Amino acid sequence: MINKDPSVNIAIPKLPKAIDGLKEISLNLWWTWNPRGKNLFKRLNAYLWKESSHNPIAMLKNMSKEELDKACADEYFMREYHYVYDMFKVYINDTNIYADEPLPIAYFCAEYGLHHSVPIYSGGLGFLAGDILKESSDMGLPMVGIGFMYPKGYVRQFIGTDGWQNGAEEPLEKDVAPIERVLDKDENHFTIEVPFIDPPVYASVWKINVGRVTLYLLDTDIEKNDPWDRQISSRLYTSDRNQRLRQQIVLGIGGYRVLEELGIEYSILHLNEGHPAFALFERVRSFMENDKLSLDAAIQKVKKTSVFTTHTPLQAATDVYNFDMISASFKDYWEKLGMNKEQFMSFGLNPDNQSAGFNMTVFGINMCDNRNAVSKKHCEVATKIWEHVLPKMKDDKPAMDYVTNGVHLPTWIGDELAEVIMSSLGDKWSLIQDDSALWGFVKEINNKKLWDISQRSKVAMVNFIRERVRIKYAQDGIDPVVAMAEGVLLDPDILTIGFARRMTEYKRPDLILHDLDRLEKILNNSGKPVQIIFAGKAHPSDMAGKKILQHIFKTAQDCRFRGRIAFVEDYGENVAKYLVHGVDIWLNNPQIPMEACGTSGMKASLNGTLHLSVLDGWWPEAYNGKNGWAFGVEPSENAKDASALYDLLENEIVPLFYDVDNKGVPNNWILKMKEAMLSIPPEFSARRMMKDYLEKFYIPISKDLQNKES
Ligand SMILES: *Cc1c(COP(=O)(O)O)cnc(C)c1O
Repeated sequence: MINKDPSVNIAIPKLPKAIDGLKEISLNLWWTWNPRGKNLFKRLNAYLWKESSHNPIAMLKNMSKEELDKACADEYFMREYHYVYDMFKVYINDTNIYADEPLPIAYFCAEYGLHHSVPIYSGGLGFLAGDILKESSDMGLPMVGIGFMYPKGYVRQFIGTDGWQNGAEEPLEKDVAPIERVLDKDENHFTIEVPFIDPPVYASVWKINVGRVTLYLLDTDIEKNDPWDRQISSRLYTSDRNQRLRQQIVLGIGGYRVLEELGIEYSILHLNEGHPAFALFERVRSFMENDKLSLDAAIQKVKKTSVFTTHTPLQAATDVYNFDMISASFKDYWEKLGMNKEQFMSFGLNPDNQSAGFNMTVFGINMCDNRNAVSKKHCEVATKIWEHVLPKMKDDKPAMDYVTNGVHLPTWIGDELAEVIMSSLGDKWSLIQDDSALWGFVKEINNKKLWDISQRSKVAMVNFIRERVRIKYAQDGIDPVVAMAEGVLLDPDILTIGFARRMTEYKRPDLILHDLDRLEKILNNSGKPVQIIFAGKAHPSDMAGKKILQHIFKTAQDCRFRGRIAFVEDYGENVAKYLVHGVDIWLNNPQIPMEACGTSGMKASLNGTLHLSVLDGWWPEAYNGKNGWAFGVEPSENAKDASALYDLLENEIVPLFYDVDNKGVPNNWILKMKEAMLSIPPEFSARRMMKDYLEKFYIPISKDLQNKES
């Protein structure tokens, strides 16, 4: 049996007994979405808290015994400590709050966005998965997560004077990350052998506590593996096809193995995107071996009890592996399943393009009867592009359903705003967060108070950006023009547009730069100036994306824009939080219908940052004419869309923002903020999303299984 408390995180010093609960708190990401938890660490040592980039383990590591003893003698700190620790224990031991309990769910995803101290994410897919684990914890859902530990993270963005993105590694510092080794019965690091890769690959297992949910991570960077295999999990979304296939085998099949060997029982398998889909084969094998089902019966059972979520509106964006590659890895495997090669390959054959190879999305669609897209619009698109693969349904159930993404509200709401909500809804507000009727209280918030909160967030954001540039200037001696382009000249008093997302062509990051003369007039409008803050990484092999980034960066250096355009380096969870809280407008202009959903606009709207977006992804479901703006034509045309964007800014947005009363408060703008804050958070909360998953998939699957058993 596995040791239940294997917590060996070497960096945490021995803590005085009076505060030894800090270790437990710091090794559970619960504190990241609880303001009292965050404040506890801040109170311990505000300076080290900042130095450590809000990482409690890194902070504790640098605290002396004297300092820790001093904290124990601080009555105020101790009161707060006991309060937070009790709250934590109550939370962890709380039983289910969701009435209709599903059977346990195993959730597989290639990346998780949880906190910047664990850089195992690249973007939207990861944050969705992270928010799903957090919300499942809050709701007390029986879920376990499986993912990858990437020792080299994704990519740290470092932009040169010429505006070119140079990727640097962002190594995961294992000893100061909130991760723990899982130990085997002999107290050694628990390791699995991933079968059917020849020679076999080994992966050690780590875990992250996400409230009440455990996320297990596989790590191939261990001595037992040869150097090539050690690198399987070294980096997220490698472009090397062979290595990518091996990653997905380790994630799907190895991940399944982890659950089996740890004796973790679950009944529902949820695959977030096609990357971990090989888990489906392993599930077939396990039903045949353990439950003695025939191949057909095992396949049927896998189909009925597995959920597949697709995230792209593009056929070309899915992983397709040529048959030779698949054969090289799986030739022994299909025999074990009692299949021949043809049968095995048939699960991943795209009828439209049979010779292309084994398609992971087609495989997911074929092997899971429960399928969903991530917004209503995406569902229409996905249903169309996979029409030739999706089964013809006899009953009402759609072959492809949808669950529109949502965001974990406690994670993404600003602290001050959270207090306002708590004072109206009580500190158990998250229990009722998806009840639209209750959000009416937003209307009652005093305009001046709301405005002051939003302006303070803007000041905090500008300070944060400047401080980062100052440190970079001090450490790397960067060119002052680069410092300027990275935001030192930002003004916390003026209308601020944010555009932060992956730098890639379909998102059209430089659409607003389409007509620079017109833009110049808007930004430098005397008395009504506007500034734009950009952020986002390009995938290391996306040259087109890097060129767009360079174009933006060079424009930011152009003195005719007078420091009104900034590019903030190294977009990630931390930067995202400052931006969604701090800017006034969140700009989103992908090529329709390329954005499957998008979630950053939800995070912005929750904080009163108004969404200015083309009608793609989630926005057609949310936009009501009052809670933001919509622009653009379908299909997208750059010139037309840019012109519509400038029109909106000139005629509506800028005048509205600068139309202030004698206290400097723009009351009509605030009306819109309030409309966004009351209409968007309940509908686009992770709570609503998880209830949809329960209602559409988890509960029906559970009932079906329970009926069969009884
Ligand atoms: C929310 C989030 C995303 C996803 O947002 P999109 O709207 O899909 O671009 C990406 N990166 C970070 C850091 C986020 O917080």
